[in-house]
Amino acid sequence: MATKSLKPKGGSCCAVATCINYAGKVKRDGKTNISFYRFPKDPELQKKWTLKCRRGDNITPSLSYMCFSDDAYIRDLKAELLAYTPKFRKLKPDAYH
Ligand SMILES: [Zn+2]
Repeated sequence: MATKSLKPKGGSCCAVATCINYAGKVKRDGKTNISFYRFPKDPELQKKWTLKCRRGDNITPSLSYMCFSDDAYIRDLKAELLAYTPKFRKLKPDAYH
């Protein structure tokens, strides 16, 4: 048996220290309302996201993801009423996990 690492290799997993979500797990658990997002390219936003992660170790923002559930998005009522999926969904400004 190979030794198990804490976080799975490959696929996206959430960088937040207290969060155990990763792509394979949410898929397995049927949590279709959770999506993974790469860290933003903006250094200021990266800093914000990194702080939110509350990690003791250093993370590489360009290689990291954070998970968001559906209620992290600003609701697009028009899209909901017309039952189409908007091309761009906007995260709420304070929706950092
Ligand atoms: Zn997470």
